[in-house]
Amino acid sequence: AMYAAKKRAGTTYLHHDSAMTEPGDDHSQLREAIATKRCFLMYQPIVSLDDGRLAGVEALVRWDHPEHGVLPPDTFIPLAERTGLIVPLGRFVFDEACRQFAVWCEHYEDAPAVLNVNVSPRELREADYADFVAGALTTHGVEASRVVLEITESLALDLGPAVATLHRLRALGLRISLDDFGTGSSTLRLLHDCPVDEVKLDRSFTQATHGRAPVAAAVIQLAQALGLHAVAEGVETPEQAEQLRSLGYSTAQGYHFARPVPAAQLTEWMTGAPL
Ligand code: C2E
Ligand code: CA
Ligand code: CA
Ligand code: CA
Repeated sequence: AMYAAKKRAGTTYLHHDSAMTEPGDDHSQLREAIATKRCFLMYQPIVSLDDGRLAGVEALVRWDHPEHGVLPPDTFIPLAERTGLIVPLGRFVFDEACRQFAVWCEHYEDAPAVLNVNVSPRELREADYADFVAGALTTHGVEASRVVLEITESLALDLGPAVATLHRLRALGLRISLDDFGTGSSTLRLLHDCPVDEVKLDRSFTQATHGRAPVAAAVIQLAQALGLHAVAEGVETPEQAEQLRSLGYSTAQGYHFARPVPAAQLTEWMTGAPL
């Protein structure tokens, strides 16, 4: 497979060029990476807009590739979804995030209240997904009510068969969040058809807060009318944070507050070090 190097935020990331790839190759490499734990998690704080406190964390997966270095998820999640490897990958992510979250909750008063984990619709179509989740929560001693499952809206078009799983997960006490909210082609349909607790305003709307920010304003009104929690993603400036707060958003996420960091760095933050 061919990769093109690209500089992003001081880190060299490698962008997968799917036109030049041999899927069989990447597929077996990714399968091996999952089995040998060469995938790992970074955590991005979700912050309260009122007092700046750590309200939650989102787990974000990375692949430490033997030749290409650390790869961001956009370079391998699509492959994982096409090949079904997203199922073992997603289970690794959920299990590892719960393990880490349990450690934080046990040892730190300032541990985040909630853990957000990304889930692909493909995973939700596995008949035993809710059983897997219940088992992992029990193994690690994590309360279901502190876990939020984020479903990317643009991928959720074929959510139909997964809706039953969402109901089961909710019955267990987990919360469901619609990620990249507002970017899907059937946003309101999804909101109507799925059991949802939270929406994450896509960063394209978060960042369009110069002027009246009509989409950000409409989404918080919609969320409030439906009794949903709303999070603004991709906040990069203090002006954006202030406008979102004044619109009524209570929590937000973005480089303005903190980038995704290794677990150890977040642990330091919980012990009082600046992020
Ligand atoms: P996402 O769930 O929408 O996650 C937010 C992405 O935006 C992350 O990229 C994060 O690093 C980035 N981000 C956060 N704050 C800012 C900001 O202020 N400005 C900008 N420009 N970007 C910001 P990342 O970690 O590369 O993840 C990309 C996507 O990969 C995620 O988007 C999610 O859809 C997917 N993903 C990540 N981890 C997993 C996973 O474990 N399972 C599944 N199925 N998908 C995952
Ligand atoms: Ca997400
Ligand atoms: Ca998102
Ligand atoms: Ca996304």
